[in-house]
Amino acid sequence: MTAAEIKELDGQYLMHTYGRFPVVIDHGKGATLWDAEGKKYIDLTSGIGVCSLGHGNPALTEAIAAQAGKLMHISNLYYTEPMVQAAEMLIHAAGPGKVFFANSGAEANEGAIKLARKYSYDKYGEGRNRIVTLRQSFHGRTVTTLKATGQEKFHRYFFPFTEGFSYAEAGNLDEVRKQADGACAVMLEMIQGEGGVLPLAEEFVRGCEALCRERDLLLIVDEVQTGIGRTGTMFCYEQYGIHPDVVTLAKGLGGGLPIGAVLAFGACADVLGAGDHGSTFGGNPVCCAAANVVLQTVGKEEFLSQVREKGEYLRKKIEEFRSPEIKGVRGMGLMLGLEVEPEKRAGFVADLLDKGVMVLTAGADVIRLLPPLVICYEEMDEALAAMKEVF
Ligand SMILES: *Cc1c(COP(=O)(O)O)cnc(C)c1O
Repeated sequence: MTAAEIKELDGQYLMHTYGRFPVVIDHGKGATLWDAEGKKYIDLTSGIGVCSLGHGNPALTEAIAAQAGKLMHISNLYYTEPMVQAAEMLIHAAGPGKVFFANSGAEANEGAIKLARKYSYDKYGEGRNRIVTLRQSFHGRTVTTLKATGQEKFHRYFFPFTEGFSYAEAGNLDEVRKQADGACAVMLEMIQGEGGVLPLAEEFVRGCEALCRERDLLLIVDEVQTGIGRTGTMFCYEQYGIHPDVVTLAKGLGGGLPIGAVLAFGACADVLGAGDHGSTFGGNPVCCAAANVVLQTVGKEEFLSQVREKGEYLRKKIEEFRSPEIKGVRGMGLMLGLEVEPEKRAGFVADLLDKGVMVLTAGADVIRLLPPLVICYEEMDEALAAMKEVF
């Protein structure tokens, strides 16, 4: 099929839920992609923080092909090796606890919300079920996780939404404290990704943790975007020196295949028992085989220190442009946000694409960079040269 034919069929047969860029992507290698017409792009998106090991990674594709040929799916009615291996590696990385596997970020967050409500119900009975989240947060697209998302624009059309969420301003601990009565949990992203690459202040995060301990609220950290090496540590919360009760993961975990996970520690580990939760595809052997390669690779300190170095390099080089168009650069590791004029942003993104650089946006005025964690210096330099021209 030609690119024009593909676009035509997309328009005819797919729901128009996405504003797509006018490019048909065909294949990739590392952090480089080629479209159907053979044009080359440097990928600073990794499929929204998913393809952490890059495109066409041999170890990943071999593990996936081998597992697909051996056993593709069997349901959670039976044991499989890839699932227990992935769970063991996650728990070794995060600390003593247990894992539930899902298929996406929203589904992982649904699991965490159910877990928090049941933890409170088991201990305190009914009525203590609210979850405090932050303004500018993003937790997913299901009817419940839309309501968990602290942005009014996501609370339209689909009424009635799930009850039991309230919102506080990021950084305002008093506001969180005021909402603690009748709550069972506080749910935070360490860096609000979709909201605009907004890192939370360390003092605020530690304050939330102390409040949670004081009032026996669960601290849920949504690491769907920040987790699995993205910010230069396995989990971003490590850089805040906190110990969450529940952590959710998805995007980067499968290196390109759909997998989500809920990690629960300490007294939370056994809250969900037989029949309380489930997912037909959850912990699928092929997705877990992929996650195992990702966890083995990203879990090495040497790999993580390279992520930090590359993140520093990109940030430093972008700051060296001294472009008045860039109001600021923020983020951690290979999760960076460049603040620009909101009215100019779409033009910058289009110009970058034209020059062969794919970027994301976030919030109202941010250009978001989430390159594959394996991006090499040549690829970064190519992207930087194009960015310098555009800005
Ligand atoms: C992307 C994202 C989600 C939703 O993940 P899906 O896999 O799209 O359901 C939830 N939380 C955060 C922080 C995210 O970045």
